[in-house]
Amino acid sequence: MSARRWISALASTVLTAGLGTAAVTATATSAAAIPPESHCGTEASGSGSNGFVNHDQLTSALQQLETSTGGTVDVDVAGYSNQGREIHIARVGEGDKIVFVQTQIHGNEMHGTEAALELLKRWGSDSPAARELRENVTVVVIPRLNVDGGELDQRQNAMTWDDVVADFPQLEGVAPAWNYNTRVGGFDVNRDFNPDLDYVPAPEDFPGTSADTGWYIAPEAQTSRDVYKALEEEFGTVDYFVDLHNQWSCYATDDLENMSPLSISAKFIDNPAEFGDWPKFDMNASKRANVAVYQALQGRGESGFGDLTLYPQDTNLPGTALGSYQLRGSAAVLFETSSQTQYDGMKRNGMLTQQIETGLGGLVNAVADGSIDALDESVYDTIPQRVYLPAD
Ligand SMILES: [Zn+2]
Repeated sequence: MSARRWISALASTVLTAGLGTAAVTATATSAAAIPPESHCGTEASGSGSNGFVNHDQLTSALQQLETSTGGTVDVDVAGYSNQGREIHIARVGEGDKIVFVQTQIHGNEMHGTEAALELLKRWGSDSPAARELRENVTVVVIPRLNVDGGELDQRQNAMTWDDVVADFPQLEGVAPAWNYNTRVGGFDVNRDFNPDLDYVPAPEDFPGTSADTGWYIAPEAQTSRDVYKALEEEFGTVDYFVDLHNQWSCYATDDLENMSPLSISAKFIDNPAEFGDWPKFDMNASKRANVAVYQALQGRGESGFGDLTLYPQDTNLPGTALGSYQLRGSAAVLFETSSQTQYDGMKRNGMLTQQIETGLGGLVNAVADGSIDALDESVYDTIPQRVYLPAD
């Protein structure tokens, strides 16, 4: 696309977003900084998940990792999906601080899983740095929570409302949960969480809304909950929780100077008191964790890696894993990599995966050496906002 077309596209976006005349004027002068050859949007990539491991390949990659590290990376089955696939879990390190990482709760959001495999290899290696890291931190990873959605390359899991009623007969006759998609026959699993880990689905809580907590009706959410609960029993508090997602391909930094290949966030809950008494909820700890990610990517000094933005801060999603676990006291970080498998081919995959490795790797390093506690949480509020761009 030519620079001229970028300007036109950006100007119409800003108008649509209702940001006013001043913003449009700024657009016209600065948008040419985005390289004219930039492309954003649909790639003719054939099968959408080209280049990403499927379930069998993920299973063997993890087994191989356990073997090649002599068990330093400990791989297990944490639970089973609704279609009966194994949900894997990998654990590395013996430190007192715990970082719990989850990828691909949305089945078509694959980059986090690839990055997790690379990071596990690094954390499990024989280098002095890796050995020292393992003394100070324990990292637990669920690489691809929504394994059925991953195989189907869809956001939802593969579970009908009838399946839910079969598991929870008390729900017979109630309206299906609001996050049920009748077209695909599956749930947005990332709306099924509740800060009360012992919550039992009650008919009066359905169909629910995005502004309220979820129910643990999906076996995938139950698996994450069970892992979290066990870690909480072991460590007292699950210090850090990281959820790896993908967003729309096309965002820019708010000065419209650059494409933004990643958005991050610490904000998932408007008012913690609305959902009970959660004394360990700590927004500043979440902000510091995001600052650790931000600074790791700023330090990389290569084109694109520093252009991350903040995910919208007006979100209130207590039914997400991030929202529920943050209420319980985890410092929480959302990664939204700009790309989904149905929009992009393999073109940008290497860079997109590496930026997650850099950001998440930097966070774990900062936890391991304790430097995270000295970070300034106010830096979080200086991270640029993201600006939506249409596909070209
Ligand atoms: Zn997602």
